[in-house]
Amino acid sequence: MNTVKIPNKILVGGHWYKVGFSDKVHDRNSWGQADHRLQVIRLSPRLRGLPILRQTLLHELVHTIDWVYCHNELEEGQVANLSEGLHQIFEYLGIDFDFSEIEDIDD
Ligand SMILES: [Zn+2]
Repeated sequence: MNTVKIPNKILVGGHWYKVGFSDKVHDRNSWGQADHRLQVIRLSPRLRGLPILRQTLLHELVHTIDWVYCHNELEEGQVANLSEGLHQIFEYLGIDFDFSEIEDIDD
């Protein structure tokens, strides 16, 4: 397995998105959230150390790509399908994510 360190800021288009663990995700009863107004990708702290964390980040990145490049045209199911496809390819390629630089945020 090759490991890619996930930085705490990711550039999508011309927009820097901060990536962090946030309890605010729980308010929406999900594992992740892409906030395009504040340019923040929030990940649930409950996912720390779990394989689903990689899929969740990919899911929120697909939402962000959709927002930046596609005018938010994708339906939730399409985002889920595309991110699951990316997750499968990363798994096949043996690419894992290292979240050690991702910190708690209170934005
Ligand atoms: Zn979603």
